[in-house]
Amino acid sequence: MDCLFCQICQGTVPAAVSYQDDAVLVFDDIHPQAPIHKLIITKRHIATLNDLQEADTALVGHMLQVAQRLAKQLQIAEQGYRVLMNCNAQAGQTVFHIHMHLLGGRALGWPPG
Ligand code: 5GP
Ligand code: ZN
Repeated sequence: MDCLFCQICQGTVPAAVSYQDDAVLVFDDIHPQAPIHKLIITKRHIATLNDLQEADTALVGHMLQVAQRLAKQLQIAEQGYRVLMNCNAQAGQTVFHIHMHLLGGRALGWPPG
């Protein structure tokens, strides 16, 4: 499949992987927007947040658990961090394979741009 993040899952495109299990893969964003900028992706190809099904509820909960655990390991849990998903063009989604951004290590502005 012609999907960058599927290729990263398959190992045909390299990435700095920090964690993986049966359901998710975590790696560094290639253009980090903060000192810590990880992408938590599903191993299964799901294009956007709009494509999530009721049956994926546990999967999304698992992604958040992974984010929380990583934030603790990276020692940004107490000062604060942000988890977000961009959905479709106007939100800035550029890779159409679902992913959570985990950002931290600096003060993050609000509202985002
Ligand atoms: P989106 O804009 O879709 O929410 O996020 C996609 C993210 O993927 C961007 O932050 C972008 O920097 C990152 N990205 C794009 N191509 C690559 C790549 O080849 N490797 C890695 N590690 N990250 C990428
Ligand atoms: Zn994909």
